[in-house]
Amino acid sequence: MANIAFIGLGNMGGPMAANLVKAGHKVTAFDLVAASRDQAKADGAAIAESSVASVKGADVVVTMLPAGKHVLSVWSEVVPVMAKGTLIIDCSTIDVESAKQAHALAAKAGMLSVDAPVSGGTGGAKGATLTFMCGGEEKAFAAAKPALENMGKKIVHCGGAGAGQAAKICNNMILGISMIGVGEAFALAEKLGLSHQALFDVASTSSGQCWALTSYCPVPGPVPASPANNGYKPGFASNLMVKDLTLAQDAANAAGAVTPLGRHAQEIYKAFDAAGHGGVDFSGIIQHVRSLAGK
Ligand code: NAD
Repeated sequence: MANIAFIGLGNMGGPMAANLVKAGHKVTAFDLVAASRDQAKADGAAIAESSVASVKGADVVVTMLPAGKHVLSVWSEVVPVMAKGTLIIDCSTIDVESAKQAHALAAKAGMLSVDAPVSGGTGGAKGATLTFMCGGEEKAFAAAKPALENMGKKIVHCGGAGAGQAAKICNNMILGISMIGVGEAFALAEKLGLSHQALFDVASTSSGQCWALTSYCPVPGPVPASPANNGYKPGFASNLMVKDLTLAQDAANAAGAVTPLGRHAQEIYKAFDAAGHGGVDFSGIIQHVRSLAGK
């Protein structure tokens, strides 16, 4: 079992750190928010006074923070005080460029590093069923895998530095686009007098089949566990979808890729967010689609 420092104990990081404790690791945790530190303590972690203090004696350091600027700021503080050869893993969803800069910072100081963003949401974080998409050298990935296996069920090595973030934003661009497509199909079916169940029964076993339809159906009924049955409570909030679609557009612009549907999906989710629905589950975009009729 390892000594693990865990920095960033929010909706995702809190339960992920708790799962590392459950697996038998000695976890030393830190977050800027006192309530998050108290919860981690109740879950069995030792609490440090700062990020820097948390990495003392750590074999592995994990960060789970909002965005690239937070990751670079925390890594700049902790990497210089880590023992040489320590492994540092970032599980946040951040821009590819910042992820590469973070890897460079770690490599310069003689550390092993992995970018390992996740899919699976807060349910996956609590249930230790997350998918991890990893970028970094083979040696760093091999070192990270055992700890990641205590927090997730599928661990994929996607390539070198930043490849995990690249996989994450490409996946979420597919998700954002496909959820709008499924919402449009149900909105059209409603106008044509076709029932939700009839469209679901056909499309879920036909060529329209996709995760947004069969696992996360945006109308109540066909998939009982989807947020549509729970007033579109997240789940995965629309403002997080805006964040990920924006990361995808930034990456596309920087790399010279053209993603017109990704850009349109970003605009649609931004409009939903601007109308005050940023906290609504992203499958609630069907409400925005319906509201366009007659405009
Ligand atoms: P969150 O806002 O709940 O948690 C982030 C935590 O980081 C907060 O508790 C905050 O206090 C802490 N923090 C910020 N700066 C810090 C610093 N300098 N030192 C220590 N702690 C600091 O966010 P979350 O929902 O846990 O998401 C974390 C990351 O995971 C984000 O990048 C998000 O995009 C990604 N993600 C979230 C979900 C989801 O469903 N919530 C799913 C997949 C990926």
